[in-house]
Amino acid sequence: MNKQRTKYTLGDYNLRVKRSATGKGLFAQESIGKGSRILEYTGRPVSEAEQYKDSGKYLFWTGKKSMINGNIPSNKARYINHSCVPNCEADGPEGRVFISALRKIKKGEELTYNYGEEYFDKHIGTQSCRCPKCR
Ligand SMILES: [Zn+2]
Repeated sequence: MNKQRTKYTLGDYNLRVKRSATGKGLFAQESIGKGSRILEYTGRPVSEAEQYKDSGKYLFWTGKKSMINGNIPSNKARYINHSCVPNCEADGPEGRVFISALRKIKKGEELTYNYGEEYFDKHIGTQSCRCPKCR
């Protein structure tokens, strides 16, 4: 009952994929403290040749030249939706991507992070963001 959940440990949180306003989303089934590392965004490495031709929605830069494709079944973080007022951020030391809580997250809340400008340019366009702030 006394698990340490700080910035530096990857939490073993109870998360669930459920229907959200924009399709599927990832929801916290318990409260999560501000600054906690919630889960890791994992994927398969993407070759340099692929980086240029592929503009898939699940690509994530993990370094200056390295990229992963998170569209794999074990990567729960791929269900996290974009928000312009997110409760999480995606960040991490070179080579890895961690989803961390920007503020305290209540039980039942959907996890979101800001996908960033590059994603918008490629996939959404600034006019059609469907996050709670823009809807
Ligand atoms: Zn928005």
